[in-house]
Amino acid sequence: MQKQDIRSMLPEELETAIKSLGEKPFRAKQIFGWLTRGAESFDEMTNLSQALQETLDANFTLAVPELADKQTSEDGTVKYLWQLEDGNCVETVLMRYHHGNTVCISTQVGCRMGCTFCASAIGGLVRNLKPSEMLGQVIFTAKDSGLTISNVVLMGIGEPLDNFDNVLCFLKLVNHPDGLHIGMRHITLSTCGLAEVIDKLGEHNIQLTLTVSLHAPDDETRNRLVPMNRKWGIDVLMAACKRYFKRTGRRISFEYAMVDGVNDTPEHAELLAKRMSDAGGHVNLIPLNPIAERSLGPSGKTNLDTFTETLRRRGVNVTVRRSLGRDIDAACGQLRKRREKEEKSL
Ligand code: SAH
Repeated sequence: MQKQDIRSMLPEELETAIKSLGEKPFRAKQIFGWLTRGAESFDEMTNLSQALQETLDANFTLAVPELADKQTSEDGTVKYLWQLEDGNCVETVLMRYHHGNTVCISTQVGCRMGCTFCASAIGGLVRNLKPSEMLGQVIFTAKDSGLTISNVVLMGIGEPLDNFDNVLCFLKLVNHPDGLHIGMRHITLSTCGLAEVIDKLGEHNIQLTLTVSLHAPDDETRNRLVPMNRKWGIDVLMAACKRYFKRTGRRISFEYAMVDGVNDTPEHAELLAKRMSDAGGHVNLIPLNPIAERSLGPSGKTNLDTFTETLRRRGVNVTVRRSLGRDIDAACGQLRKRREKEEKSL
């Protein structure tokens, strides 16, 4: 029989499994507690008998990521590179805001969305992360830093809605009252806009914050930056966003990376304002974080200011995102890429 991945199991599922092994159901809660505190082996679970520890070891695997690299920025942001059981690496970023400690997790190894400005897209998708591997990033970042984590954002490597079932399971795990108990309103999920899956997520009526990486108000520009846009187009995406808001009552935020000479003209701002007057959303402008592998650059201050002003004048709720951790390659996927390059040149 194949061993089950214990960190991917909810306490209720664990209880059923424990009972079938002839154990008392209350043990499930104890084990889930140990897992939440970052136990790295079953023999650490000292309030369980040795016999039960051995039974667990025989029936379950315990995913423990290995710290492959860690960088701390001048602003206190910490970037972790975790090595998974099969040798693949993913990144996690710890950001310390006044409203609490936030962990930004990866949801896939690589990504198949192909955004032309994003380091995670280079090399495509390797595989989906398991729920335990997403939860492990939060648990072991908390353990390593000694900090309490109050917010989680799914904005690291990968497209969360391209790994829907595992992400949904992760959300239940991280939100569980017997575990980290992070409230859904403290969780943000960022997507490049898989319209059909936004509808699917809406059906679950989860109170998380959804952000859509829009990056352009017209299909021609968006096709260039976010190639998967060719599948649906912006009209279809915005219609899905509207349905999502209607269903969940949660306003969507739109991310917009300002790319010099590509999506940053006053015409783009006017078009974006039109889209937003329909959607009633909030726009987050981020100057592009340039990556070595691509020739695209960030918009200059003049374009950024004019763009912001145009949106404001048209009544759009807009913020310019503060960029944390610039000195440590904290833009998505950059640390993993650098590591691959270093390994290749060895
Ligand atoms: N796949 C999801 C989540 C991961 S990317 C998504 O597309 O939303 C998280 C955010 O970082 C997205 O808004 C993405 O477009 C943005 N991003 C990626 N590379 C960037 C870069 N080089 N500069 C600025 N933002 C970037």
